[in-house]
Amino acid sequence: MNALEVEDVSFAYGAREALRHVGFSLAPGRFAALLGPNGAGKSTLIALLTRLYDLQRGEIRVGGCSLRQTPRPALRQLGVVFQQSTLDLDLSVEQNLRYHAALHGMSRRQANSRIEEELTRQQLTERRGERVRELNGGHRRRIEIARALLHEPRLLLLDEASVGLDPASRLALNRHVRSLCREHGISVLWTTHLLDEVQEEDDLLILHQGHLVASGQAAAISAEHGGDLGDAFHRLTTGPSLPSLQTAPHTGANR
Ligand code: ATP
Repeated sequence: MNALEVEDVSFAYGAREALRHVGFSLAPGRFAALLGPNGAGKSTLIALLTRLYDLQRGEIRVGGCSLRQTPRPALRQLGVVFQQSTLDLDLSVEQNLRYHAALHGMSRRQANSRIEEELTRQQLTERRGERVRELNGGHRRRIEIARALLHEPRLLLLDEASVGLDPASRLALNRHVRSLCREHGISVLWTTHLLDEVQEEDDLLILHQGHLVASGQAAAISAEHGGDLGDAFHRLTTGPSLPSLQTAPHTGANR
């Protein structure tokens, strides 16, 4: 079963259409990079995946569960690391994780064992008592990943998670997330502006002006559109204008 299925999703902010007939799927254990220039529709798609906005048209399924019809089981299978950190800086690493476990209705016993497992997996066991404020950006991101995985989701969504990290921490984070895919079968959707965070074997999704202009293995997209990924991205996102996004009925979506 696919970790994520997005089918014919369109979305408009009042009269401004932001996504048009977007569809793709993500298999278990795959790393997918979502790329697109400013205004392409990435944040809108993430807002729909996390149910910040309600779907207007189309369908999204997480682990086979419809976000529209069965939002709770669908969201239960989703872990999210938002672009802006949502950790409480004055709480310890462990307190931040306990808070999330409580929100997910875990018993104390279950929380203890899951926190132990995730801290070990993120190599953070020795930092558990430290206040988040005392940790560097790379470690903070790892805590957010540990937190997002606490309830054992199938799909981990990271929205520009490497922003603000130095090059070494950025690389380490990218490698670490890939190891989660390889070793634990978690599927990852990783949004970024940085082409060097994409590898040839990754699934690649390129959004441009609300259209999904490419989807498939990164190596195949590069070969088809230019030779290297930079050329392909450039061609796909600067070519002739796409069919214009039309005016849609007002829906009341706000940001
Ligand atoms: P960026 O990389 O700059 O964050 P993005 O790919 O995330 O861009 P979105 O923020 O999803 O793109 O925007 C897609 C389109 O929807 C753009 O044309 C944007 O101007 C428009 N848009 C986004 N939010 C709103 C809003 N609240 N009201 C009206 N239009 C919006």
